Amino acid sequence: MQLNGKVALITGASSGIGRAIALRFAREGAKVVVNFLGGSPDREAQAKQVVGEAGGETVAVAIAADVSKRAEVEAMFQQAVAKFGRLDIAVNNAGIELKKDFLEVTDSEWDLVIAVNLKGPFLVTQAACRQFVAQGDVPGVESKGKIVNISSTHEDIPFPNYTSYCASKGGLRMFTRNLGVDLAPLKININNIAPGAIATPINQAVLDDPRTREETTSEIPWGRWGTPEDVANLAVFLSSGQSDYVTGATYYVDGALALQVTKY
Ligand code: NAP
Repeated sequence: MQLNGKVALITGASSGIGRAIALRFAREGAKVVVNFLGGSPDREAQAKQVVGEAGGETVAVAIAADVSKRAEVEAMFQQAVAKFGRLDIAVNNAGIELKKDFLEVTDSEWDLVIAVNLKGPFLVTQAACRQFVAQGDVPGVESKGKIVNISSTHEDIPFPNYTSYCASKGGLRMFTRNLGVDLAPLKININNIAPGAIATPINQAVLDDPRTREETTSEIPWGRWGTPEDVANLAVFLSSGQSDYVTGATYYVDGALALQVTKY
């Protein structure tokens, strides 16, 4: 088990990629904090289901918090540390998309995408790093803590009608590069995973239409959509002791999509 005894907080872990990361981390021996936005009994039930699948309340806890709100993020960290005693890994996965003609995008739509996708990682990473520093060194362990951001191939590749999303993920790219430098002397790792087309609820409309699903498949040199588990595999490596000298970079999980994009 690669994460035995570690405590990990994963944002947006009630669904899709975050869910797969939480479940895989639990299988690797970690205690997991399953963050979700919530706001309805359905959403809460979904998060609680992840806790159950991870192994129950001794190894997992579901905490509703809006990652774009400082007070909610800080309260979530207090609850997480009170439950599991420490924190070793934070995964900034929560994210939203907005598809809209740029000329029609409103202030509040723009602000929401940037708040969740970019301010969220700022707040969560800052809270996590403060906790890592307060915990100090663990004898025999080089890294004080791991930050893994779920970015996107669209941190680099344009995506027509998704300017706010691309700006947020492009911002996450520089956030990671800059903090790679700032956090290295503190021995905190930070890396981005850039998924390509992954079969999750965020892409439900595209997946449900055979034409658009096949169109996307034909853009992927590997010949299939990615799974949330494909992303979780890399998240384990970037959160484990195997990656202590790996920081400040982006790693693609996209079946070579970004190398051969013809349409977006
Ligand atoms: P998803 O299935 O739609 O799940 C999104 C998760 O984020 C849910 O758990 C949701 O919680 C949570 N969330 C949304 N807003 C939040 C907020 N303000 N505070 C806390 N949690 C919030 O999405 P996904 O496809 O797994 O995507 C996960 C990440 O991967 C995103 O950052 C996305 O940009 C990135 N990504 C996805 C793909 C892809 O093809 N799927 C490709 C590249 C990058 P609730 O259920 O409570 O709302």
